[in-house]
Amino acid sequence: MKFGRVLLEGREKNAFFEGDKAIVDGRKIAPGKFSFLPPCIPQKIVCLGKNYSEHARELKSYKMIADSPDKPTIFLKPPSAMVGSRQPIVWPEDKDVERVDYEGEMAVVIREKAKNVSVEDAHKYVAGYTCFNDVTARNVQKADVQWTRAKSYDSFAPIGPWITDASEFNPLDARVTSMVNGETKQDSNTSKMTFNAFEIVAWVSRIMTLFPGDVIATGTPEGVGPLKRGDEVEVEIEGIGILKNKLE
Ligand code: MG
Repeated sequence: MKFGRVLLEGREKNAFFEGDKAIVDGRKIAPGKFSFLPPCIPQKIVCLGKNYSEHARELKSYKMIADSPDKPTIFLKPPSAMVGSRQPIVWPEDKDVERVDYEGEMAVVIREKAKNVSVEDAHKYVAGYTCFNDVTARNVQKADVQWTRAKSYDSFAPIGPWITDASEFNPLDARVTSMVNGETKQDSNTSKMTFNAFEIVAWVSRIMTLFPGDVIATGTPEGVGPLKRGDEVEVEIEGIGILKNKLE
């Protein structure tokens, strides 16, 4: 089952998806008649940094402190940064921004309030999984001590196009690819993550209570790089779908 939210006839609606059609209030809606909205409404988006060792290594080449951590490195992105599939990523008006990077990631969407859950029980608290693009102003990230500014500009959290139900998806073994203008830039598998989805949910739930709709982006593999205006990024996760956004 794939589910999420769409804009239909000017209204925000919950939807299921079948192929390229949305099912809204029992009606089948053809593509082009609806727009994708972010598939959930989180209180917070928790992101993992450096959760693939090859990506940690490549960050070193940007002279950033980037050894693989022995505990998950987390940061927050504001929900105000979210956009749905096919909505634009907008180059920020902040004059400091010189470089905007894509980061294709698998994201976990929380189903039930979770506090201090075990790794073994973590799956019970997951609604499903979706594609996420942790868009980052790389030069700002490097210049600021905190990553918050670099990661929080409006539209810097493309998510979707929908959520694949947890019962139909194995987050421990899923191919993650990113393409820019049709050219493959990232091609990895969630099996290569340092901390897997269930370890992450359990660990984060020991720090902050997770609520239904909350998102945890599980980190990006190697192959990140800059975008220029007009570029189209696709983040594809096998078993979920393709999140597509253009940088304007
Ligand atoms: Mg990231």
